Amino acid sequence: MSFTFDSIGIVHSCYKDKFAIPRQAGLVSASTAYIELLAPCNDIEITRGLEDFSHLWLTFVFHQHVGKGWNTLVKPPRLDGKQRFGVFATRASFRPNPIGMSLVELDRIEQQDKQVQIHIKGADLLDQTPILDIKPYIPYSDSIPDAKGGFTDHIKEQLFEVEFSQQAEQQIIEASNTYPQIRQFIIQLLGLDHRAYFYKKIDKSYATKVYDYELKWVIRGDVVRVIEVKRAALSVKR
Ligand code: SAH
Repeated sequence: MSFTFDSIGIVHSCYKDKFAIPRQAGLVSASTAYIELLAPCNDIEITRGLEDFSHLWLTFVFHQHVGKGWNTLVKPPRLDGKQRFGVFATRASFRPNPIGMSLVELDRIEQQDKQVQIHIKGADLLDQTPILDIKPYIPYSDSIPDAKGGFTDHIKEQLFEVEFSQQAEQQIIEASNTYPQIRQFIIQLLGLDHRAYFYKKIDKSYATKVYDYELKWVIRGDVVRVIEVKRAALSVKR
């Protein structure tokens, strides 16, 4: 059987580039995004009762990977390319059906003019990601404290110490007027290791776009140094 679904919403996310988006939801709790509901779901009544839940399950399309293929076996990036697992044993974004699911925090629901916006925190989604469905997280059945985490149970996450250049400090002070949480956001985001395993042995500089800024940093050993938080040339729709 095959199915056709329409997006029920679209994500406006702080992550404007694919590089350095966290590998799972919840890892960068200071990140912000919102879902713009689309017709016929752009109706505040469709969210009635949702505001009383703290977390939401989102199902979405990995829209940048549609038609780009998939493999039966994949190398989870955090295992440094050393082991392969079946794609169904991983959360890889290249899958037979490129559908993702993320557990995010519900911040608030707003209506601006006639547009319903569901504001969320801690998403791992690229800007413009199409949403297929929204469901409340239900602790009584969804939380399993003694669950086994497969290969992820054995991974020790490397967290970097994050420091800022003088220039970056200045730019952050300015950016904080619009994004009060931006320093915390950068510390959480760049504290994670986003490198492909084959780059882990060399010191290198990196860049990505978040909110309306271009973020540049270097990694030397266990330290991340933020070089620049530069306003992006094109103003990006928030
Ligand atoms: N929590 C989800 C996603 C895990 S993969 C799940 O388990 O299904 C997370 C990665 O997906 C991110 O690091 C980012 O690189 C990628 N990603 C996020 N949104 C995407 C999109 N719209 N298209 C393609 N890749 C995307």
